[in-house]
Amino acid sequence: MRLTILGCYAATPRTLTNPTAQVLEINGHILLLDCGEGTQVQLRKHKVKFSRINHIFISHLHGDHFFGLPGFISTMRLLGREKELHIYGPKGIKEAITLLMKLGDSWTNYPLIFHELTGIGPELIFEDAKISVSTIPLSHRIYTNGFLIKEKLAKRKLNIEAVEAYGIDIAYYRNIQNGKDVILDDGTLISNNVLTYDPAPPKSYAFCSDTVYTKETAKYVEGVDVLYHESTFLESEAQLATKTKHATAMQAAKIAKQANVKDLILGHYSTRYKSIELFKQEAETIFANVHLADDGRVFNF
Ligand SMILES: [Zn+2]
Repeated sequence: MRLTILGCYAATPRTLTNPTAQVLEINGHILLLDCGEGTQVQLRKHKVKFSRINHIFISHLHGDHFFGLPGFISTMRLLGREKELHIYGPKGIKEAITLLMKLGDSWTNYPLIFHELTGIGPELIFEDAKISVSTIPLSHRIYTNGFLIKEKLAKRKLNIEAVEAYGIDIAYYRNIQNGKDVILDDGTLISNNVLTYDPAPPKSYAFCSDTVYTKETAKYVEGVDVLYHESTFLESEAQLATKTKHATAMQAAKIAKQANVKDLILGHYSTRYKSIELFKQEAETIFANVHLADDGRVFNF
């Protein structure tokens, strides 16, 4: 699982910082999470192939989380995309994007499929053999969802030495990887665990931006490997955080602790602070594995 932060600062794009967008590579998928202004440039800078992105998830319709989307959709047309592009986001996103295309008479020549979200509880919104994506209900000034992305359990790994030692034909390998035992020609039963190794445990990632602190979030992200939680402010501005429906670094750490996650990534920093290190220091007072998102930073988990 590899996470590339394209942008992680609140509000406006600036010379050296970008609004929210991240790319999650997980089990063969490349997902774009939020698409703030400048996302295309950041994708190019960090060498993410546009054509490999088939699913885009938008948390909410504040500009710093989706103003990069119309441009990205338009560029895909210019690049001659033919395959489907799926957009998941709050109701209204289809109207916003199609109005821009209509006014410019610039419809896509590839299928653009909107999945508009209106649910108030967690909802499964995408699933295939490799991953699942569910919403995480958040509480912000407008309707907002985070996204919980989970790998599916991989097939068992073949123990080639053991399989060869028993002289098992290659035709049985697929069944063995699917967990089946093998009966040899002489009737001996070879248990699957002799022939395979456990697959790597499936990874999970939770993306929570933007939101005020709510206890429910911990319930929704219980036990995930990696939690990205916004921390627009420090605890010294807790009142402002509550007023603007954002969270502090301390509150993000509280959720990480309550939910027993392995790693916490902070981001969506207000630009009022001189150093983002302050966010890490604050969160580390109650949770050990704190990382700072920063534009261009890549995490391998
Ligand atoms: Zn917002």
